[in-house]
Formats: sequence, C-alpha cells, structure tokens
Amino acid sequence: MTPPTETLFTKIINRQIPAEIIYEDDLAIAFKDINPQAPIHVLIVPKQPLPSLADAVPEDHRVLGHLLMTVKRVAEQVGLENGYRVVINTGVDGGQTVNHLHLHLLGGRPLHWPPG
Ligand code: IMP
Repeated sequence: MTPPTETLFTKIINRQIPAEIIYEDDLAIAFKDINPQAPIHVLIVPKQPLPSLADAVPEDHRVLGHLLMTVKRVAEQVGLENGYRVVINTGVDGGQTVNHLHLHLLGGRPLHWPPG
C-alpha cells in the first residue's frame, strides 16, 4: 500500500488541527485521545505516516521499537505506576478507524480482559 501523505494525525503533527500534545521527538508524537476510553488514554503516533502495522516492513523496525519505548516513557510521565495497556487496532476487523499507525496507551483504572 502506498503510504498516505496526509492523515488526520499528520494534521496534528503539522499543527493544522489542535491536540493536547504531551510528548514529541524526531520520530513520534503523543497526544490525548479525543474520546478517552480510560482515565488516561494517549495515542502514540509515528511521524512517518505508515498506514497500519500490517503495512510495516523490516526497515520500519527502528521506528516500531521507538514507539514502544515512547509508550514506556509517556506511561512514566503520566504516572501509570500500577500498569497500563497498549493496543494497536489493525485493519477493519481490528477496529482501526484512522489509517495512520498509532498505539493506544490506556490506564488509570483496572482494565477488563478480554476486550470486546
Ligand atoms: P483507532 O480506532 O484505533 O483507529 O483509533 C483512532 C483513535 O483516534 C480513536 O480512539 C479516536 O477517539 C481518536 N481520534 C480521532 N480524532 C482525534 C483527534 O482529532 N484528536 C485525538 N484523537 C482523535
């Protein structure tokens, strides 16, 4: 699949639409989800607009690893010392609605398992 050049999340990265950004570096940005599913719900997004995890290639391993380390960093930053959940919705059956890879960081309450 050809990576989209502009997504909802690239507009947030480029400050074309507002978001509550809580972390940013060269490769990634983290901002609060507009429709939180837990007391803390942050999206961690690569600046490179990879559509989904299913589109990743071996050359993306650096950014993928960086995204997980960013989750850990942001979880510490927001004080999720009791634990948290990381979700990557992928494709139609995975419930993905924005075609720009993103990791959901959820926490601040006990989370149920299995998810729906
Ligand atoms: P998905 O269903 O895994 O693709 O998740 C997309 C997420 O983006 C959802 O949790 C939405 O609430 C969130 N979202 C959509 N638009 C915005 C926005 O403008 N700012 C922050 N989060 C958004």
